[in-house]
Amino acid sequence: MRMIIFGPPGSGKGTYASRLVGILGVPHISTGDLVREEIRMQTEVGRIAKQYVERGELVPDDIIISLLVKRLQKPDAERGFILDGFPRTIGQAKFLEENFKIDLVINLVVPDELIIQRLSNRLICKICGAIYNRLTLKPKVDEICDVCGGELYQREDDKPEVIRERLKVYRVNTEPLINYYREKKILRDIYCEDLTIPPEIIVKKILEAIDEMKKK
Ligand code: ADP
Ligand code: ZN
Repeated sequence: MRMIIFGPPGSGKGTYASRLVGILGVPHISTGDLVREEIRMQTEVGRIAKQYVERGELVPDDIIISLLVKRLQKPDAERGFILDGFPRTIGQAKFLEENFKIDLVINLVVPDELIIQRLSNRLICKICGAIYNRLTLKPKVDEICDVCGGELYQREDDKPEVIRERLKVYRVNTEPLINYYREKKILRDIYCEDLTIPPEIIVKKILEAIDEMKKK
């Protein structure tokens, strides 16, 4: 199974992908994680990539592709993968096209207003990093972490103006890719119209899409 998951920031894409790992027996590969690892290890590639990541810009295709190739050479990727955050450009999609047969592309469709609502109510513990939500996952005591008693804060890029910008960047970059895969008839839309839907339900819908694809 070789699949791609598209979904805007705050769509829960990472959560669903990690749950699918155990079920499908293929690794969840996030190019964002690969880049952050290079930065953390202070490699030459990490030093170059850092300048782009800090500005919120895309890292050049050759760098991202070589990181991905290195990751895909590990034995756990032999049976397939779930790609998260890749491809982000037509060049990256071409690279995949030339090297792998992609079985399925999942497109999580989440209305902007829901994303803004979820992210702008997200609170994070200053000490342990636990995540809360003023609407859906309230701490027992206002603005205080249940786990460690730390103070909760809002991420700088979780302010509504910045969320709108992140969504715009996502839409501009991803829209052409969604059309590209839609035309190839391997894309399935999954609608998440309500952010209180438990992750299991969305995972189930993704598994149904996989079954349908296998029948074809
Ligand atoms: P986001 O929260 O924006 O979805 P990611 O964790 O996917 O972030 O990626 C973080 C950063 O890493 C991006 O802003 C970009 O600079 C870089 N990056 C990750 N994947 C890619 C990619 N496929 N192409 C180019 N840059 C990428
Ligand atoms: Zn805490």
